[in-house]
Amino acid sequence: MLHEKLDSIYDSVLRRNPGEIEFHQAVREVLESIGPVLGKHPEYAESKIIERICEPERQIIFRVPWEDDQGEVHINRGFRVEFNSALGPYKGGLRFHPSVYLGIVKFLGFEQIFKNGLTGLPIGGGKGGSDFDPKGRSQREIMRFCQSFMTELYRHIGEYTDVPAGDIGVGQREVGYLFGQYKRITNRYESAVITGKGLSYGGAQVRTEATGYGCAFFVDEMLKARGTSFDGKRVVVSGSGNVAVYTIEKVQQLGGTVIACSDSSGYVIDNKGIDLDLLKQIKQVEHLRMDAYAKRRGGEVSFVAGRSIWELPCEVAMPSATQNEITGKDAEALVRGGCVAVGEGANMPTTPEGIRIFQEAGVAFGPGKAANAGGVATSALEMQQNASRDSWTFEFSERRLQEIMQDIHGRCLKTADEYGMPGNYAAGANIDGFKRVADAMLSLGLI
Ligand code: NDP
Repeated sequence: MLHEKLDSIYDSVLRRNPGEIEFHQAVREVLESIGPVLGKHPEYAESKIIERICEPERQIIFRVPWEDDQGEVHINRGFRVEFNSALGPYKGGLRFHPSVYLGIVKFLGFEQIFKNGLTGLPIGGGKGGSDFDPKGRSQREIMRFCQSFMTELYRHIGEYTDVPAGDIGVGQREVGYLFGQYKRITNRYESAVITGKGLSYGGAQVRTEATGYGCAFFVDEMLKARGTSFDGKRVVVSGSGNVAVYTIEKVQQLGGTVIACSDSSGYVIDNKGIDLDLLKQIKQVEHLRMDAYAKRRGGEVSFVAGRSIWELPCEVAMPSATQNEITGKDAEALVRGGCVAVGEGANMPTTPEGIRIFQEAGVAFGPGKAANAGGVATSALEMQQNASRDSWTFEFSERRLQEIMQDIHGRCLKTADEYGMPGNYAAGANIDGFKRVADAMLSLGLI
């Protein structure tokens, strides 16, 4: 049930954005939390802040033609949704995955507004990507695709306008090709136009690790708030990409045992704890599928295809692959298996039913907006270093990241308390992020 004013806003979102189910889900999840805020702050409704937040400031859709190694021409579709710039330049990653369409980009851009607000840093919300599938493509094909993508995107971005970064299918290699093409077209070495760059050309220490490390720090705080820690806990991490690998690394450093991880072909179960060096070799160097890990590791490690990784009993679940991967059924299985904490490394990986089940069972549930905000926060630190022509050490950058995650954790709890929902991190994150953006929008007039 939504607050009465919010009901009609949600209906209008459904009407104005037909078929964009992920976007509808993301909007509903925020609207469900902010009812109590409207009671305390009638000025938000009077100025139609929520209706304005639900409508992107600008949406760009463009053609991306490119040629494969055999000379065949392909046409993909590129997107950039510049959602909200009340707090700073639009900021959010680019996703290259065949499932990408406007509804996915809008859900991610919408989430990003509140996540970026929650970091307390001066960044607005945006997101982009393409339905291009990088799997099985050669390095040169990927380079040509990135160059074609940027040949249109460059006119819409800039260090004071819109600053993209990576997401699924876009890592440091792709960011390098994108930045190179931007530099070539504009004849400007505008480092802060994109983040996630390599260290030799303006990248920041800890950016690669930031989302995963940050998520582990956030869960560590949730566990501490309950008087416990990662020590001796069995942890399941889905995915084996950027977020998953560095989540595993930090969880291991904090004393947890990661017993399983996955890719879209299946999961591996390794009760002694994932061998991170082997995982990095297989995923980051050789780009193989998950079964290769089980084969090389040998022993009792097995590869399981066609089943949900969330069937495995564990104390901590850290979904780090994609949206809606934890269904209501998965959440029930996790609760039955003794799960006490969930930290969302991915964006919106838990369905609304799954969230309800976790919250009713008293599981500490850290929503993506808060738990994975370390990535974008460190991107903002990269922009800060670029602007001052500086570069910080790994240790200093990691300390800043940990402080930011502790601050976000504290604010989620405090805000949830203030609004009568103690321990509800999702409500705390939504309300705190929303209020920061709403207050800025009120101050800036009718933007
Ligand atoms: P990567 O491309 O590096 O890795 C994605 C991983 O998830 C891969 O293991 C991939 O397996 C798996 N995966 C992707 N789609 C599916 C699917 N439909 N079903 C099953 N598995 C899938 O991406 P990231 O690690 O960067 O991103 C992961 C999540 O974290 C996303 O939700 C992203 O939005 C979110 N995120 C990322 C941030 C970042 O800094 N990179 C910041 C904040 C959030 P396979 O290779 O088989 O496809």
